[in-house]
Amino acid sequence: MPTAASTPRIAIIGSGYGGAVAALRLAQAGKQVDLIEMGQDWDKSAPEGARFSRMDRPDARSMWFENRTDMPYTYLSGLDWINRAVPYSAGALGIERFAAMKVYVGKGLGGGSLVNGGMAVTPRRSFVEKVMPQIDVNEMYTTYLPRANSELGVAQPAADMIGNSPYYQFTRTAAAQNAKAGYQTVTVPNVYDWNYMRMESFGRVPKSALASEVIFGNNYGKKSLTKTYLAKALATGRVNVKALTEVTRIRRSGAAYVLSTKTISALGAVLNTAETTYDKVILAAGSVGTTRLLLKAQANGDLTGLSDKLGKGWGPNGNTMVARLLSGANSTTGTVQSGIPAQGLMAWDDSEASVFAEIAPFPVGLETRTAGYLALTNNPNTGTFTFNTTTGKMELDWDAAKHAPSVAATKAVMERLNAANGGATRTDMLENGKGYSDYFTYHPLGGCVLGQATDLNGELTGAPGVFVMDSSLIPAKLGVNPFVFITALAERNMDKLLAAGRLA
Ligand SMILES: Cc1cc2nc3c(=O)[nH]c(=O)nc-3n(C[C@H](O)[C@H](O)[C@H](O)COP(=O)(O)OP(=O)(O)OC[C@H]3O[C@@H](n4cnc5c(N)ncnc54)[C@H](O)[C@@H]3O)c2cc1C
Repeated sequence: MPTAASTPRIAIIGSGYGGAVAALRLAQAGKQVDLIEMGQDWDKSAPEGARFSRMDRPDARSMWFENRTDMPYTYLSGLDWINRAVPYSAGALGIERFAAMKVYVGKGLGGGSLVNGGMAVTPRRSFVEKVMPQIDVNEMYTTYLPRANSELGVAQPAADMIGNSPYYQFTRTAAAQNAKAGYQTVTVPNVYDWNYMRMESFGRVPKSALASEVIFGNNYGKKSLTKTYLAKALATGRVNVKALTEVTRIRRSGAAYVLSTKTISALGAVLNTAETTYDKVILAAGSVGTTRLLLKAQANGDLTGLSDKLGKGWGPNGNTMVARLLSGANSTTGTVQSGIPAQGLMAWDDSEASVFAEIAPFPVGLETRTAGYLALTNNPNTGTFTFNTTTGKMELDWDAAKHAPSVAATKAVMERLNAANGGATRTDMLENGKGYSDYFTYHPLGGCVLGQATDLNGELTGAPGVFVMDSSLIPAKLGVNPFVFITALAERNMDKLLAAGRLA
């Protein structure tokens, strides 16, 4: 049996941004790691080009154990036309359902990078100083955010695509309406390969972003983590991927930790269960996944002495979705639309009225004269996760009342757009006739906040040798899409933990 001091047995739970950074930096430091991921290793599941499904042709690859898709825009003209029945299997897009909040997550090697829109935005420094005063922000902006942007392959959208391509008519129309209402339009950097997209538009390569692929995965073009951090980590030969393997329990055993795992087939049949002891455990299962494992361990007495801050400081990054039906001249949004957003309305001054509304495509192959937006807002509320020992489930207290400040801020911007341009907020696309979503998020943040439930490098209070490395470290909101910052924070924490010998 190897000793903890010489060859630590290290597990990483989850392979999204936090897990991928940890895997690469540990492997480069010469450590062997088990990377345990409950979703599929898509690169092994199917040949290139056949891994992911289109948004408008969902199938067994689309949803994580659901019988039907459940898309953010549920209806068109009030008709249940968008969602389809799908086979119940280990697809790429998962939904964590709470009483009044649905959290969309990616499932598979690469986590959220498989299904997200690739928008790779560096948050504004003044806001990070407000929401994360516990870190040295200067270090983030001089070292870790530049490193994250470079490793992730972030690039500005191609000016010719936004300026001329019929696939970006939707964004040009919305930008013109921003200007008329006196709002600034900004470009939104992305990890999609803009050269590839240009070739798609010329018909020279198989289409991906231009063929309604995004939320169930992109077969080509997007630099998901399997093409960046994870590709490099796997190339070291030191990372052992255990796919379709869920960690169901973490418990302390002396100075080490025992992980219970369940391995399934893509159809959900349990293939085996196991218990494995590790000296070091890195939790990177995402805000919901990491917090759930820890709250369950706390409730069952598997881990004692954890902080009473565990489960707190959660938020949906102020996500509020809205669609406007445009009217009058210059209101066409195009029959073809790229799945990758490229511009946004910036009305952010760090106040509670702040809105960063990304202009979202709605690629249904019809001229809908509809401008969609994913608004990120500065909501002062936070949510708390608790573990219900009777049901064995984690609960979340986020509801419409907590979401209300986000809706109010978004509504003020949309009403100004409507007043200046004509048009109206659509109430026939979201659940229950709502004009503004207050019941789902793509950007769960918090639950195991840095310096509160952990020390300042992510080591869990009360559990030496257990480290948190993902979006659960960030309290509630960032003002921009979070994956660049999640990556940078993981880079920072790994640097500090390796330098301090905490992973030796
Ligand atoms: C549809 C959609 C669009 C988005 N668009 C953007 C965007 O454009 N830009 C942006 O910045 N962000 C976007 N996001 C959010 C972004 O993807 C997430 O913030 C990010 O992926 C979170 O990173 P993470 O490292 O915390 O965890 P994740 O990337 O969520 O990875 C966690 C991994 O852990 C695995 N896991 C969970 N529990 C267990 C367990 N018990 N055992 C084993 N494995 C487990 C999961 O399967 C998953 O692969 C989007 C998200 C979605 C869902």
